[in-house]
Amino acid sequence: MQTTSLAIAPSRVLKGQGVLPAFLETVKGERLLALAGKRAYGVVAPYLPEVMVSEPIVECCESVLEKLQQQVQELKPTFLLGIGGGKVMDTAKFIADRCGLPIATIPTSGATCAAWTALTNVYSEEGAFLYDVSLNKCPDVVVIDYEILVTAPTQTIVAGIGDALAKWYEASVSSGSSAATLVISAVQAARVLRDILLQKGQQAVEEPGSEVWREVMDGTIIMAGLIGGIGGAQCRTVAAHAIHNALTHLPQSHHKLHGEKVAYGILVQLRLEELQGNQLAATARQQLLQFYRQIGLPCTLADLGLGNISLTELQKVAEIACQPRSDIHRLPFSVSVEQVQAAMVSTTAPLVRI
Ligand SMILES: [Zn+2]
Repeated sequence: MQTTSLAIAPSRVLKGQGVLPAFLETVKGERLLALAGKRAYGVVAPYLPEVMVSEPIVECCESVLEKLQQQVQELKPTFLLGIGGGKVMDTAKFIADRCGLPIATIPTSGATCAAWTALTNVYSEEGAFLYDVSLNKCPDVVVIDYEILVTAPTQTIVAGIGDALAKWYEASVSSGSSAATLVISAVQAARVLRDILLQKGQQAVEEPGSEVWREVMDGTIIMAGLIGGIGGAQCRTVAAHAIHNALTHLPQSHHKLHGEKVAYGILVQLRLEELQGNQLAATARQQLLQFYRQIGLPCTLADLGLGNISLTELQKVAEIACQPRSDIHRLPFSVSVEQVQAAMVSTTAPLVRI
């Protein structure tokens, strides 16, 4: 039997109002190096003791990862702090993994579950998705301080909901028929998470800082991360993330967040399933369209600011999405570039009963 190594969760999860200062007490005496985004550092800086700080991280790309590893060798920190959104988390986790250092992640938004997972997405200097890297373990500590999270722009929680919703639509397709206990658990948790987000998402977006908002934050950061951890390699992303990855190759899409592009990708995936005659997918798409409009997730290319892209650009995106190693091929049927193009421009098509 094959041996499996799972990185399910961080060793410790600290969550609550104002938990960051309490956490920092526990790492007193460590040589701390903060890897942070610009806005994120500004938000967290008042809480931090004397720490070393990296250059503000904008992109998780090979040149930045190389430079930071050199910096770690020079500065010799004993503990890393990852402070920011998804790309900063991915960068900081990668550096901790390669340098063999403990790390605490301090997410400053609920836009992704990157503060939790043992995975880093690597992008080009221009922000196009290149590949992902599996890390040895999840971060040692995740510090979920709602006082900090509440400062995040609304767009980030909306995006976080989109990214977390994808867990169900992708896991149920890639692993819905699995007989493995952990995979079944992950898929069912993804279904529960979807229901929580559909029920509480709108109120959370409208009332940042409220109890409901905190529950949704726990969903987008903790539960989404946990589903990835329990499901492991068998519970992978499918077409929604493949569409996201392909869209990152259009520079015009860079002002939109990961979860916003993924959310649009869910609609494209459902359209592809509909083209196979799947009525359930058609109904799910209508339900999502209504929810997306309530909370401000993009339903169309135009909503992503891509209403004016040329046919050539559309074809390029569809071709990238269909490359041989793309996750789109985890769909239980084969997909052509033409079908992806058709799905991308028809995400809001009315429900047709066949
Ligand atoms: Zn994602």
